[in-house]
Amino acid sequence: MSEQISHHIPDALMASYVAGSLPKPFALVVATHVSMCDECRANLLAHEAAGGAVLETMGEEPLSGDLRSRVMGALDEQIDVTPDVAETPRKGVYPGPVMAALKGSDPKWKKLGGGVRQCIVDMGLEGSARLLHIPAGRPVPEHSHGGLELTLVLQGAFSDATGRFDVGDVEIADADLEHVPTADEGQDCICLAATDAPLRFRSFVPRILQPLFAI
Ligand SMILES: [Zn+2]
Repeated sequence: MSEQISHHIPDALMASYVAGSLPKPFALVVATHVSMCDECRANLLAHEAAGGAVLETMGEEPLSGDLRSRVMGALDEQIDVTPDVAETPRKGVYPGPVMAALKGSDPKWKKLGGGVRQCIVDMGLEGSARLLHIPAGRPVPEHSHGGLELTLVLQGAFSDATGRFDVGDVEIADADLEHVPTADEGQDCICLAATDAPLRFRSFVPRILQPLFAI
C-alpha cells in the first residue's frame, strides 16, 4: 500500500505529534496515516529515537533524579499512545486507530445532503474528527475553514484544485484554501478529516444544516 502513497505527514507535523502537542483529532489522522505508511512509520521512529537521544544527553548533566524520572515518565506515556492504538485491529477500510476512536463499533452515518454522509468521531474536549462518505463522482459541498484541515483517504480517491488523493494520502488545507473535493468515479470515497475550527460552508443549504450536524 505504501508505495502508492504520495502525500505524507510533513516533518513539522510529525515532530508535534511525537512531542504530544497535537490536538487529538489531528493526532488521530497522523496515527492512522502512520498505520498505513511505512515511510512515515520510519520517520516517526526516527523522531522518537531523537527525543530519546536528547534525554540521554540530559542524563549526563546534573539533573535531579526526580526531574529526570518525570521527564522519562512523560516520554513513556506519550510513546505508549502509539502501541495502544496499534493494538486495535483494522476492520474493513477502517485502520486500527480509527476503530480505537470509534471504540470498536461501526460508524454511525448521518446524511449531509448530495448523497454525502458523515460520522462524527468524538474526541472529548479537544474537538472532533469525522468520517466522510462521498458517493463516486460526487462533490463535498464547497467550504473554507478557519484553521488547519487534515483529510486522509481510507477508500477510493478524491481530487480538488490542489491535486489527486488516493488511499493513504493526506491533504493538508489551511484557512486560505476553498476547495471542492470530488470523489473519483468508480468507487465511493471514505475519508477521515480533522479540523481545528468549525467548517464554514458557503452554499445556503449546508449552512443551515451546519448547526444540526455540528460540522
Ligand atoms: Zn506517509
